[in-house]
Amino acid sequence: MKKLIALVLTLMMVLSCAAVLSETKGTLIMATNASFPPYEYYEGTEIVGIDVEIAAAISAKLGYDFEVADMEFDAIISAVNAGKADFGLAGMTVTEERLLSVDFSDSYATGVQVVIVREDSDITSVDDLFAEGAMHTIGVQLTTTGDLYTTWDLEDAGLAVINRYPNGNEAVMALKAGKVDCVVIDNEPAKAYVAANEGLKILATEYVTENYAACFKKGNPLLAEFNAALQELIADGTIPAIIEKYIPTEE
Ligand code: GLN
Repeated sequence: MKKLIALVLTLMMVLSCAAVLSETKGTLIMATNASFPPYEYYEGTEIVGIDVEIAAAISAKLGYDFEVADMEFDAIISAVNAGKADFGLAGMTVTEERLLSVDFSDSYATGVQVVIVREDSDITSVDDLFAEGAMHTIGVQLTTTGDLYTTWDLEDAGLAVINRYPNGNEAVMALKAGKVDCVVIDNEPAKAYVAANEGLKILATEYVTENYAACFKKGNPLLAEFNAALQELIADGTIPAIIEKYIPTEE
């Protein structure tokens, strides 16, 4: 009988501890590629940036703890679909193809694909990449929209060779080292990379404007909660302030 009482008491203690621990609803894991400043990048050992702050604000609003999982851009959608991450937030463009495998949240920012070249480059406009017999070697981040567009428009047309890197930093290092003639990447990381590396510049030509959003496993009910929090944080000025902090509006 004593043993039974002890067992019941222990069980009650375990249950009440569990109740205390579950005061937050759990931890949300954000999958990203932390080589995409100012959206996500390392500051020392810490991952910071627009996406990290937005995800932290949304998680806090919804009552969750929050963690970042850094991986290659190419791995984000499979991590989300395998349940290893609750959502992907990575300056990810909403595309028709991706919509076949994931759901997207409302959009929170826009991006533009641009071309980075070395300052002494003979490539002076996007048109030069399309010139007959051009055959430039172009660096991109594997499976990003920069990869997709240059593959369809240039490689498939026999106009360029595409070198695919796991992240933007490696593509830019290849450009500096003369292994590629240019890099096609989103405009904000392009500005950050050009500011951090001497001898590079961005061509003045703009490709298409894209919408960035968070991706979720198809049917994940968290998406509706996430969107509601996102809209509230846009409306109350929190998200515009986060974006302004990293991308100050030019006067
Ligand atoms: N916006 C681009 C895409 O979605 C690049 C994103 C990234 O490299 N993090 O493909």
